[in-house]
Amino acid sequence: MTSLEQTDAAIEKAAAATESWRAVAPADRARLLRRFASQVDEHLEELAQLEVRNSGHTIGNARWEAGNVRDVLDYFSAAPERLFGRQIPVAGGVDVTFREPLGVVGVIVPWNFPMPIAGWGFAPALAAGNTVVLKPAELTPLTAIRLAELALAAGIPEGVFTVLPGAGDVVGERFVSHPAIGKICFTGSTRVGRRIMAGAADQLKRVTLELGGKSATIVFDDADLAAAAAAAPMSFLDNTGQDCCARTRILVQRTVFDSFMEQFEEAVRSVVVGDPLDEASQMGPLLSEQRRTAVRSYLAGDTPVAFTGSAPVGPGYWLPPTVLLPSSTDDRTWQEEIFGPVAGVIPFDDEVDAIAKANDTAYGLSGSIFTRDVGRALRVSRAVQAGNLSVNSHSSVRYSTPFGGFKQSGIGRELGPDALDSFTEVKNVFIATEQ
Ligand code: NAD
Repeated sequence: MTSLEQTDAAIEKAAAATESWRAVAPADRARLLRRFASQVDEHLEELAQLEVRNSGHTIGNARWEAGNVRDVLDYFSAAPERLFGRQIPVAGGVDVTFREPLGVVGVIVPWNFPMPIAGWGFAPALAAGNTVVLKPAELTPLTAIRLAELALAAGIPEGVFTVLPGAGDVVGERFVSHPAIGKICFTGSTRVGRRIMAGAADQLKRVTLELGGKSATIVFDDADLAAAAAAAPMSFLDNTGQDCCARTRILVQRTVFDSFMEQFEEAVRSVVVGDPLDEASQMGPLLSEQRRTAVRSYLAGDTPVAFTGSAPVGPGYWLPPTVLLPSSTDDRTWQEEIFGPVAGVIPFDDEVDAIAKANDTAYGLSGSIFTRDVGRALRVSRAVQAGNLSVNSHSSVRYSTPFGGFKQSGIGRELGPDALDSFTEVKNVFIATEQ
């Protein structure tokens, strides 16, 4: 675990590296990022196996996650040569803008997706000419440590990308208070995010916050019901529900409620829950006993259980997929982020009711709308207060499109063309041409 003194030393080293890193020619910085991507690609299986052992992710997911780091690096390797400024017409001279790096960026990563979330922070930050110090979550540091070794092997100079495994209240808090860090890129709980934003205010430090979620799926009666029911299980069971985008509030139009539930139950029961190293497994165990206890506390109340799926018995933090039937939207299981394989289902009457129920949450990260009516799909997409919506699918994350939350799900956008804005500062320069 990194101590406070070691954290300070690493931040100072990263600060000392900023001048030389931003001076690397754009094409060379791009080439270094592409080499880093190649290193990740060459070690993809090793990284995936490491994540299975450290975090219990299914091997299929872990391979996708390592591949995502490679793809995000490749995507942002195009940025150094395309960080365009503007030329703005003014009287008496020439006016140009530059996108300047912020200096040292502190990236703080949660345990649920250790590799992708690290990459969404460090890849655009490095591409924009910043140096990076990164703190993985306490229980899941292994792949981040390996990624930093691969960066060095790719030729990225020492001090440019440093991984500091350690405690949130030591390393993480030091990122917030250390004056040499220009920006915090935080992904984690809304509780810690609030604290980071308050701490960052002291030095007006820039922040990107990717926080919790309690996303809704809305199934209208004109939808392809079989497709909606077939897709619903993995929308909240992927990564054993330890996913900020999990669709844990399922809203179904009353006229098709019973029919949906019948097909949904069948689909949940057929999800393969088992050894994460087994290629056939769709869902593995929870991260830890502490997580399992936390999730079980939501199942100990009086919210009726509609049905459950299966889970192995024996060693491992197993919990079967569980579908609840809360009687009201005030139910704690409907309002709070459970972060396990648990979803609730509630009926709605019409479009207005569906939108009101979907928006009845403090969060606003993702959501899905199932309908065959294109007009309705667009109307409801515009009305749901969330940053990432999908129609007739549950996709949330693509490296080439923006990702982030409304309301208490966060501030700022990662990935896609907008990400570089939050890793650069716009500088305006006026050059007089008149004598
Ligand atoms: P967490 O907030 O407990 O921890 C996240 C990180 O912050 C860890 O590295 C932790 O060590 C660090 N930390 C803890 N206290 C800190 C402090 N005082 N100062 C600085 N850093 C501190 O979250 P978690 O339990 O690791 O992750 C789960 C949460 O992350 C869920 O709420 C989930 O929804 C959210 N999440 C959000 C997204 C998104 O993109 N919106 C993605 C994944 C996870």
